[in-house]
Amino acid sequence: MDIKTYPWQTELLASLNALRNRLPNGILLYGPRGIGTFEAACAFAASLLCTSAGPDGRPCGQCKGCRLFAADTHPDVRYIVSEFECAAHGMEFAMPETNAEKKTLTREILIGQTRELGEYFSLKSNEGGVRVVIVYPADKIRSEAAASLLKNLEEPPENTIFILVSDEIDRVLATIRSRCRLIRAKAPSREEALAWLKTQGVDNAEQKLTEAAGMPLSALAQDPRYAMSEEGKRKILAVLAKGTQATPADAISAVDKDMTIAAAALIFSRWAWDLASVRAGSSARYFPDYEDSLRQAAQAASSEGIYQWINSVRDVRRAAEHTLNAKAIIEAVLLSYARCLAK
Ligand SMILES: [Zn+2]
Repeated sequence: MDIKTYPWQTELLASLNALRNRLPNGILLYGPRGIGTFEAACAFAASLLCTSAGPDGRPCGQCKGCRLFAADTHPDVRYIVSEFECAAHGMEFAMPETNAEKKTLTREILIGQTRELGEYFSLKSNEGGVRVVIVYPADKIRSEAAASLLKNLEEPPENTIFILVSDEIDRVLATIRSRCRLIRAKAPSREEALAWLKTQGVDNAEQKLTEAAGMPLSALAQDPRYAMSEEGKRKILAVLAKGTQATPADAISAVDKDMTIAAAALIFSRWAWDLASVRAGSSARYFPDYEDSLRQAAQAASSEGIYQWINSVRDVRRAAEHTLNAKAIIEAVLLSYARCLAK
């Protein structure tokens, strides 16, 4: 998980930081959707696992804790995040359901996800410090899962903090809410939101912000840089479907010069999730029309090769914010797919 915070979160991060020396068992962060509250929760989690956080609580980004956190391999953090929000935040959903008929992403937290916590808590924290569980969305937890989460909140394992995030505080179970310290994330002022959108290079920021009801991340998500034409998408998928047969010439002709890394990275991540899902015996969720190609690739490739490619997709998603040569970068990812499969 990349560590990301936004300029309007100074006060929020300070309130969180003020808790660090006497952590409650549970914190419930709430605010409207589209202002980065989940990201703030993750940044706070990272700062708790950082061994040299700054006086304002910001994680240093350099220590072992920060590096493990950024690589999604920190042993003392668990994400209980719905499949839908995993996709929205570029995270891998660890528990694809083996229901072949299902065509939409699950918005709720499932019992299997909270059940995993039992095993996690039966072990000691690896790095000897605090353990963190991030739960999102706290307002969409299936009842059995909520019961098991509540039990953990009532009898919390030692040195463990639950950070819950909700976009709809009114829908959070009262029993869960009453076990948590409530912290409100405020939406930025219109000026703050506009200033930030401009630094992100969004055209027509005023109108987009209005359409997104003043929520800057929702406005950014509508940016055409994140969209791709059907034709562009079809061309990229055709190269991925070719697998090890794809040539440099295929990659070059598939990538239009105005294609953005952000849009391509979205397709690549979804392809990667489908590949992992098919490999685990489930069906393709995003690209069911390409299931045969995905299955062939999943059977032929080594898991090492697949994970290598998933990692390079993750690196590209990070690069999306400071684009140099988008076309060359997208072509390189397409070609590395063929290479990783061949391993
Ligand atoms: Zn650090």
